[in-house]
Amino acid sequence: MKTSVIGFPRIGKDRELKFATEKYFKGEINEEELLCTAKTLRKYGWLKQKDAGISYIPSNDFSYYDNVLDTAVLFNVIPKRYKDLGLSKLDTYFAMARGYQGDKGNVKALAMKKWFDTNYHYIVPEIEDETKVTLDLSKILDEYKEAYELGIETKVVITGPFTFLKLLKYTGTKKFEDYIQIFTNEYIRLLKELSEKNIGIVEFDEPYLVRDLSDKDIADFSLIYKELLSNKENVKVILQTYFGDIRDIYETVINLDFDGIGLDIIKGDKNLELIEKYGFAGDKVLFAGVVNGKNIWKNNYKKSLEILEKLKDFNVVISTSCSLLHVPYTLENEVKLEDKYKSHFAFANEKLIELKELSQIYDDIENKDENEFYKNNQSILSERVDVVDEKVREEVANICEADYERKPDFYEREKIQKNKFNLPKFPTTTIGSFPQTKEVRKNRLDYKKGLITKEEYEQFNKEKIAECIKLQEEIGLDVLVHGEFERNDMVEYFGEHLSGYLFTEKAWVQSYGTRCVKPPVIWGDVSRKEPITVKWSVYAKSLTTKPVKGMLTGPVTILNWSFPREDISLKESALQIALAIRDEVLDLEANGIDIIQVDEAALREKLPLRKSDWNEKYLDWAIKAFRLVGSKVKPETQIHTHMCYSEFTDIIPAIDAMDADVITFEASRSDLQILDSLRENNFKTEVGPGVYDIHSPRVPSVDEIYNALEKMLEKVDENKLWVNPDCGLKTRGDKETKESLVNLVEAAKKLRENK
Ligand code: GLN
Ligand code: ZN
Repeated sequence: MKTSVIGFPRIGKDRELKFATEKYFKGEINEEELLCTAKTLRKYGWLKQKDAGISYIPSNDFSYYDNVLDTAVLFNVIPKRYKDLGLSKLDTYFAMARGYQGDKGNVKALAMKKWFDTNYHYIVPEIEDETKVTLDLSKILDEYKEAYELGIETKVVITGPFTFLKLLKYTGTKKFEDYIQIFTNEYIRLLKELSEKNIGIVEFDEPYLVRDLSDKDIADFSLIYKELLSNKENVKVILQTYFGDIRDIYETVINLDFDGIGLDIIKGDKNLELIEKYGFAGDKVLFAGVVNGKNIWKNNYKKSLEILEKLKDFNVVISTSCSLLHVPYTLENEVKLEDKYKSHFAFANEKLIELKELSQIYDDIENKDENEFYKNNQSILSERVDVVDEKVREEVANICEADYERKPDFYEREKIQKNKFNLPKFPTTTIGSFPQTKEVRKNRLDYKKGLITKEEYEQFNKEKIAECIKLQEEIGLDVLVHGEFERNDMVEYFGEHLSGYLFTEKAWVQSYGTRCVKPPVIWGDVSRKEPITVKWSVYAKSLTTKPVKGMLTGPVTILNWSFPREDISLKESALQIALAIRDEVLDLEANGIDIIQVDEAALREKLPLRKSDWNEKYLDWAIKAFRLVGSKVKPETQIHTHMCYSEFTDIIPAIDAMDADVITFEASRSDLQILDSLRENNFKTEVGPGVYDIHSPRVPSVDEIYNALEKMLEKVDENKLWVNPDCGLKTRGDKETKESLVNLVEAAKKLRENK
């Protein structure tokens, strides 16, 4: 049986692309050197896939920043303000991705959004009325040729027209409908040119199909593809979907002239029912995604083969369930992880082997029980140790409804807290982390490696905290933070202090651009070993008379940014973590920390892609898990939360129901739209919509911040507005951080004078 991969990681198994790109940004290497690193990385991925005998190997899955941005560039969807900078092609691309501030001008980056329900972010392309949609195939052709020279005829992977049109932001008067024909024509031209170049297979990725689709969506999709597919010439076209099932459009899709259709059988188990119910067109290839591209557990061959058996009447290819972009490169990088754990995982390279083994077992399915790969797989899976903690199980079982309720109600608490803290109007604060400079990282690393003692490590952090407090006092911020210098990552740090967690050394996954995350693994039942953050917060507080916020990561985010278990429910895991974080909240409170921020940066992220699943499959337990964390504190203790990205317009009631006292969130990169919805929904929680974008090194001016605040005041009650950046400052440098915060405080002061 043939095998297929939807996409391969590209950041480099030692994050080579990240480092090279960052050096390029700093001017330490030139374009040619960056391109050379990229080429080496593509080669690595292709050869790995070739070695594993993968039949359908992708190209154009590589990206210098993001694939949706690549698709925008492919069609010349480049806003004028970036073109006007007059930069090179590559620098124009990076200017769209991360903004530009230099001698050629000053422009913000395009907005960034989470890629469906993953922790990967794509760049939201903008199309203007003046944009002339034309094709620039150079990237696609160059990469195809590169692979060809390695003896690999790749399938060319491109964001499909429907998904692309859906993700585009229309900034002018022309909308989706006005572009359907324009893009259909360009995609036809694309197929024609590929056909002329003898490129045989194109895969159009249409993950948008796993969302709830309206009749109009279905009609639009059909319209585009009917025309496209009747012009495909000699190219075979695969429709690839992932992250769920395509129940709304399945019947339509199997009747269109695709040569292959890719379905995610892991996340979209309902796809199997659809196949059973409506059948599958016999002449098409069915790409069955049974090797999970989103999680790192070893494939259970027995289960996968059962699925493949059900599909045996069709022309099936075994595939990954989505791009392998969402898993780390290879277990070979993990030297420290003990075998008893490691043997249960498969990263990208190992998943290639799984595809190969599954295909071999399947080809001789009658004798599977004698197959070494099969036997080995089943025997490993039967041995899983260190999983159950009876005490934790019991505590979760004993949670009752009252444990989710905080007393007294919000309005009562708001009064008590206003009295107690007596903060100025429009209080200023930050989201928690301060720049993680080289020295800060070195301190942690040296300690980890045993190069410095615990005392030395702690002493350094204390000095940094003192510096940070002094800086915030100088700047004039109202609610201070300790700076999070002890944390590598907001989830890994907590994971390290919880039982039930495992860690990797190099299992990096791209989050956006050059930013990677290293999600820890939830292996078994979770509990808190000892107080985690208390000493740092208490120390910070001892240095100032201003309030200092304790800083924790919330249970839903800890869960969402870890590789989750598959043997218990997400709800069960979330509640276990919530109990552990609740212990920490109560310890902070007992030690005099009276403002505590529980970050739920990733709450929105795992919201099911279909609305009908939102409550039952997610919000019902996710909001409860958060409430559990804060439900036992005193009325005068102020609970903050923070969420990255303001894309929660549609779940505002649920956010309000988290019952936090204050919420800060991203807003600067997405036009403050959310504020209208807050008002419409009578949002009670006090809010700090971020006034500037911390993902970019640009320093916002006082006026820019002041104007943003004025706009906010049109929508937000003046007694509820907080002033803060978008997110933590850890990725920024010291200089721009200080300058930006000085301007922020200045803008807040100006506002106080004028209102
Ligand atoms: N408190 C965290 C920080 O400031 C929050 C980070 C985040 O939201 N991603 O770094
Ligand atoms: Zn954030």
